[in-house]
Amino acid sequence: MSNLIKGETGEWEIVIGMEVHAQVISESKLFSGAATAFGAEPNSQVSLVDAAMPGMLPVINEAAVRQAVKTGLGLQAKINLRSIFDRKNYFYPDLPAGYQISQYQHPIVGTGSLTIELADGSSREIGITRLHLEQDAGKSLHDQSPSSTYIDLNRAGVALMEIVSEPDLRSSEEAGAYLAKMRSILRYLGTCDGNMEEGSMRADVNVSVRKPGGPLGTRCEIKNVNSVRFVKQAIEYEARRQIELIEGGGKVDQETRLFDTGRGVTRSMRSKEEAHDYRYFPDPDLVPLVLAPEFVERLKEELPELPDTKKQRFVRELGLSPYDAEVLVAEKESADFFEAVAKGRDAKTAANWVTGEYFAALNRAGATIAEFPVSAEKLGELIDLVADGTLSNRLAKDVFEGMAETGKSAAEIVAERGLKQVSDTGAIEAAIDKVIAANADKVAEYRAGKDKLYGFFVGQVMKAMGGKANPQALNDLLKRKLSA
Ligand code: ADP
Ligand code: MG
Repeated sequence: MSNLIKGETGEWEIVIGMEVHAQVISESKLFSGAATAFGAEPNSQVSLVDAAMPGMLPVINEAAVRQAVKTGLGLQAKINLRSIFDRKNYFYPDLPAGYQISQYQHPIVGTGSLTIELADGSSREIGITRLHLEQDAGKSLHDQSPSSTYIDLNRAGVALMEIVSEPDLRSSEEAGAYLAKMRSILRYLGTCDGNMEEGSMRADVNVSVRKPGGPLGTRCEIKNVNSVRFVKQAIEYEARRQIELIEGGGKVDQETRLFDTGRGVTRSMRSKEEAHDYRYFPDPDLVPLVLAPEFVERLKEELPELPDTKKQRFVRELGLSPYDAEVLVAEKESADFFEAVAKGRDAKTAANWVTGEYFAALNRAGATIAEFPVSAEKLGELIDLVADGTLSNRLAKDVFEGMAETGKSAAEIVAERGLKQVSDTGAIEAAIDKVIAANADKVAEYRAGKDKLYGFFVGQVMKAMGGKANPQALNDLLKRKLSA
């Protein structure tokens, strides 16, 4: 599959590198003990450190460091046992200290990689350049008063991880897959909740274009894109804009742009000339962060099974198709749900139910797995009723619908609706005899070689039995009787 875009002067290649900001799951901030809960009253979670009162000193939060190291390990990255916190200086009303504590030349995590899977079944490894820890800023509230801007410092000092990729991505599809995979890994690790709508994960997208195989073009950085869909739209638009610009005789200026989600376009925010000079220097209030090798080792041992490994296990040990395995591991919740359903049962049957009826119903209801009335245990019981011959597959689908609507168990619905499959051969034989007697002409045609009529007989017998005949028993008996 080619990623190249056709322009007037030939084909172009898109080059993308991403900077993902991920809010660390931690009860307190990166350098203070203030709480971090989402949605609290403005300025109710602000310590003197966060408000940058004179004389206050930052103290590193060990939990946040642990989360950054875990994330680095999950991205198969080099953990730097010694890293440095720098001051990144700029003036902004929501930054009371006048600088953000960040990491620059010596980040806590170095190079790593992340594998993306594409729609055509292929996969690619994307290089991670680095991951560093930094503080988030506060928030300016422009809509609370007609004449003033208010400041909410609840977010000021909250720990962020900035995860920078190499310029290895080649299409909007790849960039979308990268962001989705990053979110999935962070959620598996429990280091970031990945809620892009709430802003706890956002991406700066660097886009340039070049002639295939040529040198890298000048990039534009699209700031703070907050969904996978917007990332893809922004790249599509931005690449076209740059191609048209260059083909029209212009050149791309390195600049920061914003994606206007309403109009689907990117707009210039500031050019390179207006870029800040952050005057980075090591924060004199903080000593270098030195990690003991055993600290890292222990975190490595505690690492959960991540999506790539889980997918391999589902394929190799449970016999799932790579496609089903991929769909199931994409989110930790669905992988856990599937495993609970499959426990002690046929894994492929469980996978068919979960990726088929169950996901479809979940989508229709717009619900999360936790909210949906059919639990893994209940779905498992339904599958058992098919396995023991109580329900045919067709009846089971009806029962499932009922379970989704009412939250009742499969057994309750079967009892209420009298749906139990009839496996009693006497009853099925009687129904077959009636159908044969009533359709003597068709029976003669069938016996004379018109095989296509077989389905008609099956349908008639099923209808006579209210859809409840055991299909296997029905087939066996019907074949015998028709050939007699
Ligand atoms: P800065 O510090 O100015 O943000 P970096 O060199 O750290 O610059 O790069 C930031 C991001 O831009 C990285 O994700 C990197 O992969 C990406 N990038 C660098 N050069 C290009 C390019 N020519 N086209 C697209 N992305 C690029
Ligand atoms: Mg940048």
